[in-house]
Amino acid sequence: MAINRRQVMKRAITVSALAAFPNISSAMMTPSRKPQRVVIIGGGFAGATAAKYLRMWSPDLEVILIEKKSAFVSCPQSNLVLSGHRTLQQLTFDYHTLTSHYGVKMIQATVNAVDVDKKNVRLSDGSVVDYDRLIVAPGVDFIYDQLSMLTPEIVETKIPHAWKAGPQTQLLHEQLKAMPKGGKVVMTIPQAPFRCPPGPYERACQIALFLKHHNPTAKLIILDANGDIISKKALFKGVWDDLYADIIEYQPSNAVENIDVDSLRVESVFDSVQADVLNVIPPQRAGKVAELAGVINVDKRWCEVDFRTYESTAVKDVHVIGDAVASTLPKSGHIANVQAKVCAAAVIALLDEQDVEPEPVFGNTCYSFTDGEKAGHVAAVFRYDPKTEKMAVMPGGGITPTPTLLEGEFADAWAHNIWSDILR
Ligand SMILES: Cc1cc2nc3c(=O)[nH]c(=O)nc-3n(C[C@H](O)[C@H](O)[C@H](O)COP(=O)(O)OP(=O)(O)OC[C@H]3O[C@@H](n4cnc5c(N)ncnc54)[C@H](O)[C@@H]3O)c2cc1C
Repeated sequence: MAINRRQVMKRAITVSALAAFPNISSAMMTPSRKPQRVVIIGGGFAGATAAKYLRMWSPDLEVILIEKKSAFVSCPQSNLVLSGHRTLQQLTFDYHTLTSHYGVKMIQATVNAVDVDKKNVRLSDGSVVDYDRLIVAPGVDFIYDQLSMLTPEIVETKIPHAWKAGPQTQLLHEQLKAMPKGGKVVMTIPQAPFRCPPGPYERACQIALFLKHHNPTAKLIILDANGDIISKKALFKGVWDDLYADIIEYQPSNAVENIDVDSLRVESVFDSVQADVLNVIPPQRAGKVAELAGVINVDKRWCEVDFRTYESTAVKDVHVIGDAVASTLPKSGHIANVQAKVCAAAVIALLDEQDVEPEPVFGNTCYSFTDGEKAGHVAAVFRYDPKTEKMAVMPGGGITPTPTLLEGEFADAWAHNIWSDILR
């Protein structure tokens, strides 16, 4: 049976987020139209996936990926760096295959202006890059309005968020190692929505694991602005009670209000606590370049999109994918990866003046490690609902009640699989 390019893309979206199509030749997918240029800002889970799949599905398209960092560093598994069960090196990957194998043109630069009327972006070196369609995939930036004492220097050297994997992750690990015996780690969690809903609770497990083995009389105080654990509650509660009861003290509805950055004293809604190591995860919003592109139009924080194309509802020919999108979908690497595929397919169809997939379907699985080897997951399937124009939860998801070694293996396989899907 003959298969055309649109059918290929439709299958890619509806059947599997991580599918590969080794038998589909490039020639079969090459449309007959003048070369057009798609520019992507941000080479993380969303942007790098979009770049690869645009070139794979439409090899005559010119795809320019602009990323400020020289390497891809994975946030998934970065909490395990804190307990010493991963190194940052194991989570760091180059972009070489995107350029050498897929023909993506990669520019290492920061985009610091977007002209949506002239359809171009300006880079840190002053050069200008034109686009036919722009994909904005900048992830998140942090909001320090309520905690203005947390200057960039303080965050980078003393009170790391470690919510973008990199030097701050390493710094937090070193701080845990250097903490006095019987000391206190204080971690603060912002009001949702934020990147990776289960992430802070997984982090609590990894910090507690480290303390249990290296500093067993130490404590981890969690000041959560939310009224309760917001993801995989039964899993985390069970593990904290079983493994870390003497270490973790969880305080819901107790948002941080003030910090003395010299002494590390933290004032919260109900209390005041002296920290030896302080990890403040700040509130979040779409990355700054989304604001420069004029696509932030929800709560002054997030970007509303058409979920069939990921085109911004604010600016024509500009698409937004990944954590920057306003939605009830979890802000996960997995969701960023599948949104990128829906967006890539839609961009190709729109440039071809073809119809887009009317009801995209995709899944999300999010694993959390509860110690160095065991993990549990939450999974969900989402489908576009034409009535609400949103992604609706479908039957078929599930959640692990207790962590297992087998799920730890699956979690590791998931990570290796998605890194390959994005970058290899
Ligand atoms: C501790 C932790 C654990 C996590 N664990 C998981 C997990 O187990 N599973 C899961 O699915 N998700 C997990 N996540 C969430 C996941 O990391 C994010 O959802 C995902 O990275 C979002 O992808 P993105 O492409 O939107 O953003 P990012 O991956 O952050 O990519 C954005 C990119 O844009 C670049 N950029 C931004 N602005 C500019 C600019 N102006 N010019 C050039 N480049 C720019 C940045 O440098 C960055 O590389 C975790 C997150 C954290 C913090």
